[in-house]
Amino acid sequence: MNVQELPTRARIVIIGGGVGGASVAYHLAQLGEKDVVLVDRSDLTSGSTFHSAGLVGQLRADPTLTKMNMHSVDLYRNLEKTDTPPGWKECGSIKIASTPERMQEIRRQIGWAKTFGLDLKEISLKEIKELFPLLNMEGVLGGCYMASDGQVDPSQLTQALASGARKEGVKIFTHTRVLKINTKNGRVTSVLTDKGEIECEIVVNCGGIFAAEIARMVDVRVPIVPMSHQYLITENFLPDNSVMLPSLRDPDNLIYFRQEVKGLLMGGYERNSKAWRASHESLDSIPADFNAKLLPEEWDRFEEIATNAAMRVPKMGEIGIKNFINGPEAFTPDNEFCLGESSVGGFYIAAGFCAHGIAGAGGIGKVVAEWIVAGEPTMDLWHMDIKRFSDAYKSPKFTLERVTENYEAYYDIHYPGEERQSARGEKKSPIYDWHRDNHAVFGEKAAWERVNFYSNPNETQLDETQRPHGWVGRNWHPAVALEHHATRTSAGIFDESSFAKIEVTGEGAVEFLSLVCANNVVRGVGRTIYTQALNTSGGIESDYTVTQTDETTFFIVTGTAFLTHDMGWLEKIRRQNNFENVAIKDLTQELACFGIWGPNARKILSKCTDIDLSNEAFGFMRSQMIKVAGVELRATRITYVGELGWELYIPRDKSLQVWLALIDAGKEFNLRPCGYRAIESLRLEKGYRAWAGEINSETNPYEAGLGFAVSKKKENFIGRQAVLTAESKNKRKLTALTFGDIRDVPLGNEPIFFNGEVIGRIKSAGQGYTLKSAIAYAYLPLEHSEPGRELSVEMFGQTKNATVRTEPLFDPTGERIK
Ligand SMILES: Cc1cc2nc3c(=O)[nH]c(=O)nc-3n(C[C@H](O)[C@H](O)[C@H](O)COP(=O)(O)OP(=O)(O)OC[C@H]3O[C@@H](n4cnc5c(N)ncnc54)[C@H](O)[C@@H]3O)c2cc1C
Repeated sequence: MNVQELPTRARIVIIGGGVGGASVAYHLAQLGEKDVVLVDRSDLTSGSTFHSAGLVGQLRADPTLTKMNMHSVDLYRNLEKTDTPPGWKECGSIKIASTPERMQEIRRQIGWAKTFGLDLKEISLKEIKELFPLLNMEGVLGGCYMASDGQVDPSQLTQALASGARKEGVKIFTHTRVLKINTKNGRVTSVLTDKGEIECEIVVNCGGIFAAEIARMVDVRVPIVPMSHQYLITENFLPDNSVMLPSLRDPDNLIYFRQEVKGLLMGGYERNSKAWRASHESLDSIPADFNAKLLPEEWDRFEEIATNAAMRVPKMGEIGIKNFINGPEAFTPDNEFCLGESSVGGFYIAAGFCAHGIAGAGGIGKVVAEWIVAGEPTMDLWHMDIKRFSDAYKSPKFTLERVTENYEAYYDIHYPGEERQSARGEKKSPIYDWHRDNHAVFGEKAAWERVNFYSNPNETQLDETQRPHGWVGRNWHPAVALEHHATRTSAGIFDESSFAKIEVTGEGAVEFLSLVCANNVVRGVGRTIYTQALNTSGGIESDYTVTQTDETTFFIVTGTAFLTHDMGWLEKIRRQNNFENVAIKDLTQELACFGIWGPNARKILSKCTDIDLSNEAFGFMRSQMIKVAGVELRATRITYVGELGWELYIPRDKSLQVWLALIDAGKEFNLRPCGYRAIESLRLEKGYRAWAGEINSETNPYEAGLGFAVSKKKENFIGRQAVLTAESKNKRKLTALTFGDIRDVPLGNEPIFFNGEVIGRIKSAGQGYTLKSAIAYAYLPLEHSEPGRELSVEMFGQTKNATVRTEPLFDPTGERIK
């Protein structure tokens, strides 16, 4: 019952009283935000939270998520000591391997757990059986154990968080349904409920499966689908004096277990998943009275899980079932959360928890509350940022196909270089058909089909000897090395049409971009500048090139996946600083982009244009409109592979003409069409940074080796003070490492040791075919970053030697480019 009256004003309104909303409220209160109202259309914990299985694991593939889950455990442990304990039981967890590939993955996870100080360890078959005596060990190859994982009562946890929030002044109103959210000038202004209107600055959508519906009130797309998720609870059968069982995951058999009172709770991820109230044709439509309700049991779909469970724990076939739960849960297209501020100012999302919302809730509440208070993320949250989704997710079909694929592959090992199989072919380069007809193997990024490499069946020079060891090499292809060498020795041509292209124009454009960019991007028409856009903490929010195309117009090029994110940042800064005289336009679909690079790039391009391409006439980082094969286009002398060359921005409908002319002109030079995998190898050798690879909102330009792109002379740009302070205070540095054997390729997150002590973790890695070595980058303490230092890296449980190198690894003087 609500004893208070709904206020007419609050700084922050949280919609949803599940574990997500309660945790955001709790953490906002902890940060001193007292003017917070939480509303729920029904009772607290009447959404997905009440029927959760409550397993809490910490180690995840994403370092940020791991840190968030570690915070959750810390919080639940501490809340247990309060007068509203959440029922935290630190029972530990086991993961078992039923395949050799899984065993390798487990060993890899044990390695990366070390970088967080997590207590994950490999255990013997005997130890597994001792910890979980009910197991049938047939086919079990090994496993790992983490003593600090546990389980919690989801409803009690929500109540504990709500109680903590209330104590600090947060007002909670149940049976208060949000009907409408009002906006003005792109910002939220108020929330209309069935009990009255609340004027506010910030709205946090913690709506669980209802989050997409709530976001539609402000025309924001949250691509989550309610998926049916099932588990069962057995009758009690464990002896009263038995030691509590750890939770147990057998991902190869798609199942998980935990002790529930004196019985077992068992669930899993079905291969025949089912969306609830969403289809290819229609977005989710959840009944208005769906609270504290479950879905009908679907035994048919659960059969494989039940059979696997009875095989692994034979007792399951003998004991009765007390309860069968089928509840809807909000799944996203990539099994990561949807967090952060949307394109509407002040409208935040914290939803789409993909059946790990209880494990994540503590961390989710913390990072979202910090994001709200600081106005920007305080950790690298890119993998969970709502702005990672391209506009393709506006389509219910595209979204559902992706969600389905990911749900069903939840427990699968994700091998490097793996590509999505569903929802393909959404966005294509204008010359897609040429690639297809010329043996292109496509990958997908942000719904774009992009060439990974060309696999010509007549190729005779393929060299298998560089295939990475173990399952790292599963999706590897030797053609990538050939494309790499062609670019280094003669020339390669790349289709980069998916690059995000943004035009910033208007009277205020110069002032606006001067504020946004850390580098001075206003150096005259025809100049191209590499820059970062920083957040107020000096972290790198975006990384792009800016070309001034006339007095008041700038052309920004950024990565394929970053259009929504980078446009969103630009729009936000424009809105916050009232740049009404600036227009920001997405040109991505209008222009194709081809890169032609290599020692012969100039000779090839010269054959197709009358323009003088000499160094004197067309210098490095210069851009101009030229004619190529009779087509007027923008040519920019720039490189992302460390070779002489140009990027050409071409009207879509004329692009095939240009491509064919270049291919023809390049014949005498053995010009080779190349794909994105070759770019990756080439850029790693050259040390060119990639946002979301080596750099992100948590790293500053100085520690990332990008201090040259910060213009200290500029007096006013976002993050200036923080980044200049960081320059002298940095204690770590992005460092290049190489390995003796090109087949020892790290995947990221591997621990780096010096004298037996963990000093860092691998950030990114790949193969350098010119250097004939595997390459990795890592942020290392300054005292460990001097070239020549010998370190060791743990890969799949094995120690590999690595050497710190001077950067750039290839062409240190930049001779080949200039
Ligand atoms: C069967 C099952 C098992 C699971 N097992 C685990 C597990 O073992 N470990 C784990 O970590 N996670 C697990 N999960 C996931 C976890 O339960 C969820 O991720 C989490 O509970 C979601 O919390 P939430 O706050 O986002 O959403 P919810 O709990 O659904 O809360 C959303 C709230 O928003 C309110 N709301 C919606 N619309 C409005 C409106 N217009 N106005 C006001 N209020 C509104 C709703 O009433 C609801 O209370 C499981 C989920 C399921 C379904």
